[in-house]
Order: sequence, then C-alpha cells, then structure tokens
Amino acid sequence: MKTSLLSKSKYLSGLQCPKLLWVEVNDPKRLPETDATTQYIFDQGHLIGELAKELFPEGINIPQESFMGNINQTKNLIKERKPLFEAGILTGNLYSRIDVLYPSGEEEWDILEIKSSTSVKGIHIDDLSFQKFCCEEEGLTIRKCCLVYINNKYFRDGEIDPSQLFTIADVTAEVENIAVDTRDRINSMLRVISLGECPEVIIGPHCRDPYECPLEECWEHLPETNVFTLYYSGMKSFDLYNSGIVSIEDIPVDYKLSEKQAIQKESLITGETHLDKEAIKGFLASLEYPLYYMDFETISPAVPPFDGTRPYQHTPFQFSVHVVRDAHSNPEHYSFLAEGTQDPRPMLLEELQKILGDSGSIIAFNKGFEERILKDLGNAFPECEVWVNQVVNRTVDLLTPFRNFDYYHPSQKGSASLKAVLPTVTGRGYEELDIADGKLASIQFEKVTYGEVSDEERNKVRSDLEKYCELDTEGMIWIVERFKQFTE
Ligand code: SF4
Repeated sequence: MKTSLLSKSKYLSGLQCPKLLWVEVNDPKRLPETDATTQYIFDQGHLIGELAKELFPEGINIPQESFMGNINQTKNLIKERKPLFEAGILTGNLYSRIDVLYPSGEEEWDILEIKSSTSVKGIHIDDLSFQKFCCEEEGLTIRKCCLVYINNKYFRDGEIDPSQLFTIADVTAEVENIAVDTRDRINSMLRVISLGECPEVIIGPHCRDPYECPLEECWEHLPETNVFTLYYSGMKSFDLYNSGIVSIEDIPVDYKLSEKQAIQKESLITGETHLDKEAIKGFLASLEYPLYYMDFETISPAVPPFDGTRPYQHTPFQFSVHVVRDAHSNPEHYSFLAEGTQDPRPMLLEELQKILGDSGSIIAFNKGFEERILKDLGNAFPECEVWVNQVVNRTVDLLTPFRNFDYYHPSQKGSASLKAVLPTVTGRGYEELDIADGKLASIQFEKVTYGEVSDEERNKVRSDLEKYCELDTEGMIWIVERFKQFTE
C-alpha cells in the first residue's frame, strides 16, 4: 500500500471532501492554477502572520526552506523550551506546521494558530485539533489551544499596534470536544489517499463549505441552465438535483418556486425577456435630473492602511461619475484615481463635492455599497457629514428593477449583477477589458500603488482601472436609455 503524508492543509481538505483530498495528494494537476484573488488571500494571510509574531517578541523563527531542516531544528529548539514560529512536527505519516508553539509551565506547550479571519470558525477548531494531535503523538503535552485573529473593531492610529489589532481566543475546550474524532478521521483520510482510484463524490453543499472547492470538473457536466443558477435557491437546487432534475426547464409545474424563480423558469422556456413596463416606468419616474451615475472602487486590506480605518474597511481610491444634465444633453464624464501612497479619501471627497451638485438623482448599482462608503467618509471627516447625508438621501438604486425581476433576460442565469445584466439589456459588456471586476481592480490598485512595479505596468493598470470604472457608470446610462425605449 502506498503511504503518503497527511499534512494539516490536506486534513482540512479531507474534512470537506474525500475526492478533493485524493486529488490534492495524488493528482494535483487537476486543480486550477492559483488565481490573483486566491494569491491575494494567501499574501494577506502571510502579512497577518508576520504581524502577529510581534506579539511574541522572544519567538524564534524556524526557516521553512528545507522541509527536514525545519523539522529537525524544531526538535532541537523544543528541548530548549523556546517559543517557536513555524514549528514543523512530523509524526509517522502526519505533518503539521504550527504558527506559534509556546512553552508554558515546566513541561507543557500552548499552540497558537494565526488567522486573518475576524471570528472563530469551526474549521479553525479542526485545524487546531490536528495540530494538537500531531504534537501529542510526538510526546508534547499541550496545555492550551488558542486562535489569534483580527479584531475588526480596531481603528488604526499611527503605527499598527499588534496587541490591539489581534484578539487571542482560548479554544482549548472546543478542541477537546472534537478530539475524540480526530484519530478516526485521520485513519479514514489515510485510507482515502492510499486508494488507487479517485473516490466518486456527488456535488453537494459541502462543495462550498467551509470554502469554495477549487475542483471545477465536478460541475462541468451541468447544462448552462442548471438548477444551481436558480435565483436565491439555497438548498432547493440540491433537492432538485438529487431528485434527478438538472435543468430549470425540467422543474415540474407543481414544484413550489418563488415568484422570481417562476419568472426565471418561464423566461428560459419561452426564450423571451420578462418585462414589467409599469414597474420600469415607475422606476424611471423616480429619477430627477440632473442624473449623476456614480461608482466607487475600493481597497479593503486586512491591515488598515490609514489612520482612522478598520481591518477590511472598504476605502475608496477611485470614482467615476457620468452627469446627464437633462433629457437632451450628452453625458459628461468625471473621474478620480488616487496617486501616491497617502490616504486617498480627502482628495477623493474634495473632487466628489465639486461634481455632485446639490440636487438631482445619484444613480448607483447596488447602492448599499456606495452608501456604506459615503457614511464611512462622513464618520471619518465630520466636516463633510451633512453633505454626505444629503448625497445618501439622493441615491437611487439601479439594481432595484433587476432585483425585483421587473426586467429579466434568460441569459442572466439568475444573477442581477451589473456584469450579468449589462450585456442582456444593451448588448455590450466587459469582455474586452483587462480589469473586469471590482476584486481584481482592488488587487491591481494595491499592487501598483504600494508594491514595486515598473512604470509601464503601473501606467497600464491605471489605464485599465480608468476604463473599468468608466464602463460601470457609462453602462448604467445605457441601461436607463434602453429602459426608456422599452417603455415608450
Ligand atoms: S467540487 Fe465538491 S464533490 Fe468535487 S471535489 Fe470539490 S467538494 Fe468534492
């Protein structure tokens, strides 16, 4: 029988799905390459890990370049009872890397796991239970298991203060509660990875819990109109799938669907756009000229970058505003894209105040996001709070007619996002842009603003960002113009 190593990350994959575990160990080429968003999450985790180590100034960093070197050095330093970072424990065919292994009392040790999360989750307890198991197999006595995670109430004020940025939770009791199952789970996973063939697993809620599984092949057999594209379907999609109904068109007439899901099904069967002209007319009637089409792009790093910001707070670095003064005038375009590494908010606010005037509708798509940004700006800069509140009160949400299914086109696939509706309403979309979603915009802005890149790359990204944000607001104009045609 083949024996492979079961590491902590594989153990966690195995808890999610035996097929994922088997592929990761035996056939990792089937997994997609790490994309920019996933890499960003890894990088943030690394950054957080380094900052959290400052909580333990006497800790010794054990180099990780050499697998066996790290393990052997860990063994030696354990004898000296020093606090260790990145301690490697190899016991039989189990391997665990421990963020912080901290000596306590005469003989015992504490395990501290550092996470960029803002709360304790079940998966963290599983993570610690595996580490504890490995340590105990190696003869260490573990006193406490703790999670070091982000305190999202922390506001930056000057240099980052790790003692305020992080919360340490003692989760020893929670780890103890599941410890009894850990050995069985490990044995079962060791059996899975030694199988000559990949186990068959049917897709289910576990594919997205606790993480989105990266193995796309399990979903590839589904047709485009599959039941998982049903609007806000939750477990309903799995119920349908498990009863053999794969396409929305095949859902039986007596199966209970919500009003919006029924519109989606009907639209797919007929191939026709669903249009509630009266509702669209009502939406258009709510708009008051001049119209300001507005969109923000933001960064939301784990470590707050500026004074007065919190972890993961959305901090705007860019806006695009198209102004249409009356029914007959051409749109005017205004934009802002922060330069340099300083806090972009004061300049962004100043520029925005010059453009938005004091009357007329401000149109956003999914306005809750824009409102949150504006309110945060009002809190951070109290002298602007009155103006911010007026702007918030003028904001209208172009998402509303889509979320209400006043308009629905079969190719939206149950989504009401701007990326999904723009092509269906206007025939134009984002496919020609190198930056075509908000997350990538954020990652790329951080990279070219705070990282080391060539001028050429920086200029290219900034130009891509301008195009992307501009299309978001211009696209909204096109939608409103099409709505007018629909209702004529
Ligand atoms: S997609 Fe689902 S079934 Fe397939 S490997 Fe991932 S978790 Fe398992």
